[in-house]
Amino acid sequence: MNKITIFFVVASIVGVLYLAYRLIPRIRIWVAHFKKIIRIWVAHFKKIYHGYCVITYMDDEKLSEVSKRRLEVVGKKTLVLDMDETLMTAVIQRCQRQKLPEFPYDHKLILQRHDASAVYVYKRPHVDYFLDCVSKWYDLVIFTASTSNYAGPILDYLERGKGILRKRLFREDCIDVLGLKAKYVSLASPDLANVFLLDDSNVECRFNAGNAIKISSYVIGKRDQELINILPFLDCLRFTQDVRSVLGLCTRFECLTTNHCKLIKGRRPI
Ligand SMILES: [Mg+2]
Repeated sequence: MNKITIFFVVASIVGVLYLAYRLIPRIRIWVAHFKKIIRIWVAHFKKIYHGYCVITYMDDEKLSEVSKRRLEVVGKKTLVLDMDETLMTAVIQRCQRQKLPEFPYDHKLILQRHDASAVYVYKRPHVDYFLDCVSKWYDLVIFTASTSNYAGPILDYLERGKGILRKRLFREDCIDVLGLKAKYVSLASPDLANVFLLDDSNVECRFNAGNAIKISSYVIGKRDQELINILPFLDCLRFTQDVRSVLGLCTRFECLTTNHCKLIKGRRPI
């Protein structure tokens, strides 16, 4: 093997190593981009799948005469709904560099504040169908610990011009209990036999023990059937004389009232 051949062999090896050194990081970046595109497309298809999922629930016209009479006797109840993480989850983008979830958002709005933050709304799967159903069964009241300038436009979007979420209570309507914002259902309707809360917060459910149903928090992009699964229970509950006769059995928590909190505050730690 002469010197020229050896030179070409060594040069070829060095060239291949150099190309590998230059290209491998790029290949990794290309693979990462490709994976990201696949994830975004999968998220889009998931969203389309949820949008076209055919779900039907029995109309009230098909109820028996006995059931219809029963509804007239017990009267229409009030369902108090939490907003954040119960009906939807929002991401507030405070600066351009802040990354958003890869899951496609449903709605974007600009907060009318001094920093004009963008809010991206991710609806919980099946929320439209859920609201359509429960608005026929109950008087709906939205009770959120968020401010009205943030929650108002989101609720306008969620009700889709149907006027089903017109009764709204915001942060300023909450009662301050040891620094916590308590959403007492009695503020929505004083008749505790006929009002209850659906909320993802354990604390709010404890404030309304006997008049609350806990639902899991919605995580963006997660497969979620909670709103569909709870419909049969909500359908049954409207036939009760007193919601506490059912919901009082579901909770182990002592009802935490303002008076209880004063007692707790004054008590020495055990
Ligand atoms: Mg919540």
